[in-house]
Amino acid sequence: MEGYMVSARKYRPMTFDSVVGQGALTTTLKKSIQTGHLAHAYLFCGPRGVGKTTCARIFAKIINCMSPTEDGEACGVCESCMAFNEQRSLNIYELDAASNNGVEEIKNLIEQTRIPPQVGKYKVFIIDEVHMLSNAAFNAFLKTLEEPPHYVIFILATTEKHKLLPTILSRCQIYDFNRMTIKDTVAHLQKVAEQEGVTAEPDALAVIAEKADGGMRDALSIFDQVTAYCDGNITYKQTIANLNVLDYDYYFKLVDYFLGGQIPEIMTTFNEIVNKGFEGNHFINGLNAHLRNLLMCRDEGTTKLLDTNDDVRQRYIEQAKKCKPQFLYRAIRKCTDCDINYKLSQNKRLLVEITLIEVAQSVQDDGASAGRRPAKILKPLFNRAAVKKSVTAAPAAVSTTAAAVSKQPTPASVPTAKEAAPAVLPPDAKFDLENLTRAVKLYSQTLPQGGVRAQLFRATPQLLNADTFEIKVDNPAIEAQMRQYLPALSEYVKKALKLPSVKVMVKVVEYNPEAVLSPAQFYAKMKEKNPALAILEKEMQLHL
Ligand SMILES: [Zn+2]
Repeated sequence: MEGYMVSARKYRPMTFDSVVGQGALTTTLKKSIQTGHLAHAYLFCGPRGVGKTTCARIFAKIINCMSPTEDGEACGVCESCMAFNEQRSLNIYELDAASNNGVEEIKNLIEQTRIPPQVGKYKVFIIDEVHMLSNAAFNAFLKTLEEPPHYVIFILATTEKHKLLPTILSRCQIYDFNRMTIKDTVAHLQKVAEQEGVTAEPDALAVIAEKADGGMRDALSIFDQVTAYCDGNITYKQTIANLNVLDYDYYFKLVDYFLGGQIPEIMTTFNEIVNKGFEGNHFINGLNAHLRNLLMCRDEGTTKLLDTNDDVRQRYIEQAKKCKPQFLYRAIRKCTDCDINYKLSQNKRLLVEITLIEVAQSVQDDGASAGRRPAKILKPLFNRAAVKKSVTAAPAAVSTTAAAVSKQPTPASVPTAKEAAPAVLPPDAKFDLENLTRAVKLYSQTLPQGGVRAQLFRATPQLLNADTFEIKVDNPAIEAQMRQYLPALSEYVKKALKLPSVKVMVKVVEYNPEAVLSPAQFYAKMKEKNPALAILEKEMQLHL
């Protein structure tokens, strides 16, 4: 306590004029004091750390001041003001209902209201977090709140107005406090920094303000934390490292990569972010907020909704010019879906990677209506609609393609016309499931006739993460052979789709060892599983 005082206390405003970000409200309060129109109960609502209790104390001090200044502030030097300054005034009584919410505490408070003030005119009772009072305490309090002595003023404060009973709300004059804007917070932190003899980059203060999420008290304690760490010079780099905030440069870079369709760069950037220890959903939400900011900056009217400092705003405006609104809508929707599915996902990293690829692909989906060069329609990586269709198709309506596939003999030698592999991949083929499947098919055509070639031709590769895919085969003999071809296959796919690296795995599925048992072995196995067979065999005197 001695020597060092936390900034939130040290820089607690002492006058209405120095309260940050609540201009309209403090003006109204001042006016009502000057004109003598005082209510007997006030309710201050708003998020934490925006100045509710501070304003209540300033209010109490002014109405008790012996000679208020012309513009309605307390003089600061009279007997009452001195008592307030030295925190020994008997005219202010504070109850924190978060920790004292019982009937006893309220009865105590009511007792206090019976004693008139010795110095000054009013006794002010501040009840913080009033929504936390127990029902019994509320009931004990209601009567006094309704008809307090003429020298009593209640100031109730709450972060959760909706939890208050109508009987309380109707008895109070209600004031709604604003969240602090980033701009206001930064301006205030700048002043505090100057008084503390600390230099600070505006970007760093903006990060602090953002982290505080609209509360000045939090902003000041984060400021203290960063100041201790930064040694007199608060830089952006140090601040984001100290607060574990992801550098917004990453988001600007990623959007540029989306626009350029630079999937490999997107993947390596995301990898970098993961390596810094950021959670995938934290990152996706940050990206989503960035995209939202870009959308706001598409129009001058909404640019002001962007709560940040001027330099960063300018960067947003520049990047927004390059983004079509349709792309931003789609990207925001995809990021939102990713956020919703994140908790349920078994492979969270893959989910984020797929989302990023889809966002990059959605840049190109515009062309159709624009009527310029023919639109490149890229199918989503996992085309759910298509899968669904083929699954739910009625057996009677088996398509010719399906028939062709099912007729295909296992060691496929000659592909049917429908299944014929594409001659080449387009030069700008993207890395998606469709092109990957095509690349694998193309590669199979370079192999000698046989099981590996057939399996690869029929394969539907499965993406495991952004640079790894898996081929499923149905027997271990083929698997062993196929392993010899994997390096060549990955090299082929890497070249065809212009990827920095590709890994291929092979996995045996639906391999049924019983299928290769002799009939006698198979029967023995069946008997094991179903003893009734053995009884049947015996009863019927069968010799199987
Ligand atoms: Zn005074």
